[in-house]
Amino acid sequence: MTLISKLPHIETTIFTIMSKMATDEGAINLSQGFPGFGSDPILLEMVAKYTQAGYNQYSPMSGIPALRNILAKKTQLTQGYFPNPDQEVTIVSGATEAIFCAVTSVVRSGDEVIVLEPAYDSYEPAITLNGGVPVYVPLNQGDFSVDWERVKTAITSKTRAIMVNSPHNPSGYVWSVEDVNQLAELVENTGIYVISDEVYEHITFDNRQHISIGSHPILRDQTFVCGSFGKTFHVTGWKIGYCIAPEVLSGEFRKVHQYVTFSTVTPIQYALAEYLEEPERYLSIPDFYQKKRDLFAEGLAQTELEFVPSTGSFFQLVSYGHLSQLPDRVLAERMTKELKVACIPISVFYSDRRDDKIIRFCFAKEERELMEALNRLKGLKSIIY
Ligand code: PMP
Ligand code: GLN
Repeated sequence: MTLISKLPHIETTIFTIMSKMATDEGAINLSQGFPGFGSDPILLEMVAKYTQAGYNQYSPMSGIPALRNILAKKTQLTQGYFPNPDQEVTIVSGATEAIFCAVTSVVRSGDEVIVLEPAYDSYEPAITLNGGVPVYVPLNQGDFSVDWERVKTAITSKTRAIMVNSPHNPSGYVWSVEDVNQLAELVENTGIYVISDEVYEHITFDNRQHISIGSHPILRDQTFVCGSFGKTFHVTGWKIGYCIAPEVLSGEFRKVHQYVTFSTVTPIQYALAEYLEEPERYLSIPDFYQKKRDLFAEGLAQTELEFVPSTGSFFQLVSYGHLSQLPDRVLAERMTKELKVACIPISVFYSDRRDDKIIRFCFAKEERELMEALNRLKGLKSIIY
């Protein structure tokens, strides 16, 4: 029997490859995006409390009411609108699931979906598995802002959805009010859905504010907002996230979620519902990460790499094209094996694997680990041969 793959071009993700290489080589792992420090012990105690108190069976399919309610309140506080917790908020097993279920809810065979690239790797397979066709629009070179003229040109009668991501992985670009308005202008009354990946909603710098697509009165009616508690509270391994969307969209979304996972880990939902009661616990995240961003940027300035400090997410892009024309994957491998610092080559975020000689570092690490990595990066010239 010959298995005909539905995803013949998909390989093991670069995050898995680089993290394994980092472990095998004993390198500092600034590749895959995950925090190198623990979560708040109070949150961990809450999880222990709820597991021991017996909250260990299936949760309601859409998530426990307490977590949906507090998430709606948080949305009111940070984004100025109150989604209906019963009909418009769904708890899922990570933003990856939210994105997959949102795409599956609206994309049919032959539909086009606009993807701004470089793009996070889970969008394309979700579109393809649903018979959709990704239509790639490159972000502007340099700052990775959106070229709205190009987006406009990419829209056709077959466009069913657009995937957006702010703060952006891998570039850290944070959408402005103008960006959100431009999107609204383009998709209003078109029947195009917006699937908005906002997993880095609480990681923005220099007083920039994250503007959720759901906060826009026109866009709200056609948008799935996808979020992740893993990113916000340094617990990526918990795989718990959410989707906020209007009732009709959430209804379809829940039909899919019901048969992808049915429900999400119960005791962690109870713990998060209690933990979110104090807004300071998420409002303090930008300051926490700004210190790391600043420290990393200061150190990078002592190396030969070129960069503009990240404005959001826990990633920093750097360019090396002025030093070498080595393919970015080769440089990433040499950095890991010889300098003992792992990073992610950016070409993998492009459908055509375009190589602009840019690599990505994750700075969600302890200060001493970042300092040691920066020290090793001073030896960059020695591996560029
Ligand atoms: N979107 C982006 C842009 C991400 O960086 C990540 C994190 N890996 C995800 C989605 C997935 O989030 P989760 O781990 O909650 O599935
Ligand atoms: N979002 C993480 C990153 O960009 C990786 C998550 C994963 O490995 N799937 O590095």
